[in-house]
Amino acid sequence: MRRNFNLLAWECMLFALFMLALQSCSSSFNKSKSNTCRAFSANTSGARDEYLILVNSENPLDKDYVPSDLTDIKSTRADGREIQKMRKASADALESMIEEMKRLGVYDENLTVTSGYRSFEYQKYLFDTYVKNRTDSGMDYDEAYREVSKTTALPGCSEHQSGLCVDFHNKSYANVSFAKTEQYKWIEKNAHSFGFIVRYPSGKENITGISFEPWHLRYVGEENATKMYENSLCLEEYLATL
Ligand SMILES: [Zn+2]
Repeated sequence: MRRNFNLLAWECMLFALFMLALQSCSSSFNKSKSNTCRAFSANTSGARDEYLILVNSENPLDKDYVPSDLTDIKSTRADGREIQKMRKASADALESMIEEMKRLGVYDENLTVTSGYRSFEYQKYLFDTYVKNRTDSGMDYDEAYREVSKTTALPGCSEHQSGLCVDFHNKSYANVSFAKTEQYKWIEKNAHSFGFIVRYPSGKENITGISFEPWHLRYVGEENATKMYENSLCLEEYLATL
């Protein structure tokens, strides 16, 4: 009986969270038509844990927020791009994970970071460029804006500004086909042991507001990542349980 009650309470909480997420997703487009998030209320105080900050369309970072402990990522793809950076703890954890993959023979030499920390200005440049590419090809501005919004966060709303995430894959560009690789299958099952989660998992799109991104790993620390992995919770769901 007690067990049934707990299950019912859990289901009610998930349903309420789902409805809230639906509401925020459906309204975010109209709210943020100015190519920036609706407000820049920094959410970096680390009330619960400095590695558990939530960055999304409803929880933007301040445009001036720059993590103080950004570190070079050794495994940045060597294709002419600048060395990517992330916060120290997450960069160290990533290197440990890569070492373990090498030790186990799962590593692929093309498996590298293609994007780490992004400044507010750089995210704005990316968003505006993607919109312009489409309007230059004849697409209506509103449609271009809507299309880009599906895959690219508005400046301030990108988790990349937190310095706690990376795009990590072995494809020429970030692509869902990475999910079919041996490397991703290993990451999906083991990244939590190094403090990482697949931040935008398949099946949670209505909660995260973002399509499945097998390449986007977020550092939350080993304990938090393991709890999320074991209970199949995305970050929004996990934070609601704390
Ligand atoms: Zn990413």
